[in-house]
Amino acid sequence: MLVVLRLGHRPSRDKRATTHVALTARALGADEVWVSTKDGMLERTINDLVTRFGGGFIVRTGVKWRDAIKSWKGSVVHLTMYGQHLQEALRELERMNEQDMLIIVGAEKVPREVYELAHLNVSIGNQPHSEIAALAVFLYAALGDAPLYRKLNSRLTVIPNPRGKTVVDEGRSGSDDYSRP
Ligand code: SAM
Repeated sequence: MLVVLRLGHRPSRDKRATTHVALTARALGADEVWVSTKDGMLERTINDLVTRFGGGFIVRTGVKWRDAIKSWKGSVVHLTMYGQHLQEALRELERMNEQDMLIIVGAEKVPREVYELAHLNVSIGNQPHSEIAALAVFLYAALGDAPLYRKLNSRLTVIPNPRGKTVVDEGRSGSDDYSRP
């Protein structure tokens, strides 16, 4: 089980970023996203996408982050530019050999306690960038590309196509060619 915990979500400011954290988590192999602030709109947006594009991805908001971290049974990885080198962290995770992983990303300043509760504080490079980029790189490094084209039981399936768009919609397929972006 792989869960992404998004801290510090402010519904008015972070709607788009947190939606992208959730979509990235889902597309790159996480099972669930937990958000520390209650946000019904965010839940509806993600659930609607899951209805169309499939899979069993779960979104929970209003999650008590401290309890969630303390009661987590597997490894806890906090992504922060101040953390240890990614490759070193991947080796440690391999040694820990846990089935389940909780990956924490922030929005605004992350409380000091999170750094202490996490088993690993991991940097994706030593420059500040974004929680979405950090999550994507970490998931790709940890899981590889297996999740990217996995077959989900879905109403809509996008088939890779070097030029046009091929979308299978409940058994009916259509294809458009686009020679220009
Ligand atoms: N200033 C905030 C702080 O001191 O915690 C960080 C804000 S940053 C826009 C939001 C999140 O992006 C961070 O909490 C972290 O999870 C992630 N992030 C940004 N750059 C990162 C990096 N180089 N490596 C790992 N995570 C990063």
